[in-house]
Amino acid sequence: MANPEELKRLNKLAVQLNKRDPLMAPYPEEQVRRTGKSSCYQCGLDCKYRNAFRTESGKDVVRKCQAMFVYFPWVMGRPGESAETAVDATGICNDLSICTMEMYNIIQWLDACYKAGYLTDKETGLEIAKLGTRPFFESLANMIARREGFGDILAAGLLRVGEKLGSEARSHFANEVSGVGDGANYSAREYLMNGLLYALEPRQPIAMLHEISWLTGLWVMHQSNPESSPVTSAVFRAVAAKFWGNEQAWDLNTHAGKAEAAAKIIDRTYAKDSLLLCDSAWPIMVSWNTPDHVGDATLESRIYSAVTGRKTDEAGLHQYGERIFNLQRGVLLREGRRPKTDDVLKEFNFTDPVETVFMNPDVIVPGPGEEVVSRKGKTLDRDVFETMRKEFYALRGWDAESGLQKAETLEGLGLADLVQDLKKIDMIFDATC
Ligand code: SF4
Repeated sequence: MANPEELKRLNKLAVQLNKRDPLMAPYPEEQVRRTGKSSCYQCGLDCKYRNAFRTESGKDVVRKCQAMFVYFPWVMGRPGESAETAVDATGICNDLSICTMEMYNIIQWLDACYKAGYLTDKETGLEIAKLGTRPFFESLANMIARREGFGDILAAGLLRVGEKLGSEARSHFANEVSGVGDGANYSAREYLMNGLLYALEPRQPIAMLHEISWLTGLWVMHQSNPESSPVTSAVFRAVAAKFWGNEQAWDLNTHAGKAEAAAKIIDRTYAKDSLLLCDSAWPIMVSWNTPDHVGDATLESRIYSAVTGRKTDEAGLHQYGERIFNLQRGVLLREGRRPKTDDVLKEFNFTDPVETVFMNPDVIVPGPGEEVVSRKGKTLDRDVFETMRKEFYALRGWDAESGLQKAETLEGLGLADLVQDLKKIDMIFDATC
């Protein structure tokens, strides 16, 4: 540890900047009551959604983030069913080691198949009409965990279910089924720069998506209850300009500035992940405790400097992120990725209008001044996506047309060895071609 005193000071500063009132819990209070926060060992931060709850029947549990919602909509949509069932469903998944993202998609699919008359109780061994009850969830989870009956097919994951059962089964998949267990959340239809994050990453880039969804979610909260969040439209704009690099990044109705925003978000996320800074609290973009409510974009680089003794600023830290991103790109190209055909988005982005978003049911975004604009019903324009992609390639120092990295860019990032590898497979930009 190069500078323990500085690290302690930064630790205190992060805790103070991050301190805030708890967020609204999703459960009806008379059924499941929040009793406090429940931090991970030694973490002093107020993270997005990690809370302790007491249920109506007296159970004390900790629930967090997406896992809380694995069965929530179906329980809350079933008159007379207690919210405790939704709480227990998360616990059942934990006990049986079932991914809550995949489970959510499976339930959504079963529901759609049943309503369309494609699947019956006999075919599945489930009483699908009881969807939303505790016995239904227990039966489903147990048959998956033990690979019994229809559970054997489901246990392979929904994409393989689609491969096995064919196109009619696949036609009932929700857009969220993107190949990584979950994934189409916060799509480019509502938050434009997310199109680049999805197109350029080989997995659901949730830590990157959170920069946009979290900031927008706090702004949405302020719109419905100004006491609940300090993120006014002016704060949203100031945060966006500071963290995403340009004055136009805040305007989610135009593609201007979105390529730069995506590049900043990518670089920061790779650096943040390498520093083991938790996505549930970092970056600290917003603060309840600064005069302008804008967070601090320099904290991560100051922590890095205090720990390593290598003095680095925000831009310097982001360059490490850029290096990691370029290295990953090179590895992916070596493994067969091709920019033109693989830096793309799922078709639904261009064809299915967005109807609702987590933390933003009416899909609203800030407009000029105090105007509130809705993106409900919007799709992503193909030309807009193509323009953003070219801009992104160019900003990365890659060839804007082919999406191939340039030797000088990789050499400038200290990745000269990758150039030779990529030359062998003809996957480096060659200006003479
Ligand atoms: S911020 Fe991260 S490490 Fe801290 S309590 Fe929340 S989830 Fe745990």
